Amino acid sequence: MTDTEVRPTTSALPTTTLPSPSSVLDDARHQLAEAICILGYDEGLHSVLATPRREMTVAVPLRHDDGRHEVFLGHRVQHSLSRGPAKGGIRYSPHVSLDEVRALAMWMTWKCALLDVPYGGAKGGVALDRSALSLPELERVTRRFTSEILPIIGPERDIPAPDIGTDERVMAWMMDTYSVASGYTVPGVVTGKPLNLGGSRGRASATSRGVVHVALRALEHAGITGSERTAAVQGFGKVGRDAARFLAEAGIRVVAVSDQYGAVYADGGLDIGELALHVDRTGGIPGFIGGDVLPPADLLELDVDLLVPAAVESVLTAENAPRVRARVVVEGANGPTTTEADRILAERGVLVVPDILANAGGVVVSYFEWVQGNQSYWWHEHDVEVRLAERMSRAWDDVTGTARTRGLSLRSAAMCLAVERVADAHQLRGLYP
Ligand code: GLU
Repeated sequence: MTDTEVRPTTSALPTTTLPSPSSVLDDARHQLAEAICILGYDEGLHSVLATPRREMTVAVPLRHDDGRHEVFLGHRVQHSLSRGPAKGGIRYSPHVSLDEVRALAMWMTWKCALLDVPYGGAKGGVALDRSALSLPELERVTRRFTSEILPIIGPERDIPAPDIGTDERVMAWMMDTYSVASGYTVPGVVTGKPLNLGGSRGRASATSRGVVHVALRALEHAGITGSERTAAVQGFGKVGRDAARFLAEAGIRVVAVSDQYGAVYADGGLDIGELALHVDRTGGIPGFIGGDVLPPADLLELDVDLLVPAAVESVLTAENAPRVRARVVVEGANGPTTTEADRILAERGVLVVPDILANAGGVVVSYFEWVQGNQSYWWHEHDVEVRLAERMSRAWDDVTGTARTRGLSLRSAAMCLAVERVADAHQLRGLYP
């Protein structure tokens, strides 16, 4: 690694005024700036908390199966190391950019702090279309990206995990690449591994379990009880699929679900098990006969009790927020609500459970996986679920308690709690030299 490969950035330094909310990074910075304001921190501390500790941008050359060469751009951003090793997923998507990765890394820092897992925050990604690659190509691109970021990752440095476009197979290749370079097996370098390679029971469904845990608390909090509660779920991937299933199991009527190809609606509730089988068979929601076709954008505006955006960022915007009819929004995705939309939803009395609380179940069980690996002692699924529920409950109580006592939205309360913990760790450690 050369000095130029690991570049501290100055472009994330905050300005004295709030940034205009035009991008996902602006949204993340705006949320931080608001928390800094509420907490009364000075601009120096604000700069420290806003600026990623380390960023690495790498070229990821791939030899295609037909011999053609193509170069992709990859990033790993370590936003904070104050509370422990950096932690966060790796995203494979054509939309990956350095700014997006910076925002997602910052959110990981707050998420880990809010759930009180001993990590900082990081995120990584490669700008590629996974569906355009064969399996051997995916493996080669993964191994090359891993080897490029190898100098800054490690079980005590920075621990990747799955995110959009990556899965346990990708984690197995990352773990193997790191281990081959080290000369011995290092399971703790990634989480979200296959069970057979040191993965944790309950990790695959952990984010969804956490989402549903807080969704049920949020509905109760909003006074929405009874047996006729309805939900719409945007996204049928790592988060949305099991979230829809767990919601249905909890007695919520899931009337609409979408994926990147289409959406389906059934007033009496969708059979999520049948829908999952259909998606496994055909690759997407279109063509499912257990409901009516729905324009995907309409899902966000349905008259339901609960809306779970569980796909990508910036889907609830100033444009559609005035038409959102759900009474509770639980952010299964990272950053699905823009700053403007957040303000509009708050004004309209919609309860928004922020991403750093709602979708934190994944990183909580990633932490459990890392702990189990360190001890070489594997827990039963039941133990994982009980401990996850405890953590989610505690965080929910912390956030709602702070929101009540300080008169804040759930997002502001969650941000204040998280930022305060990171700032405290930073100050206790002191500034070197
Ligand atoms: N990618 C997930 C998230 O956004 C999980 C990260 C992890 O387990 O490290 O929270």
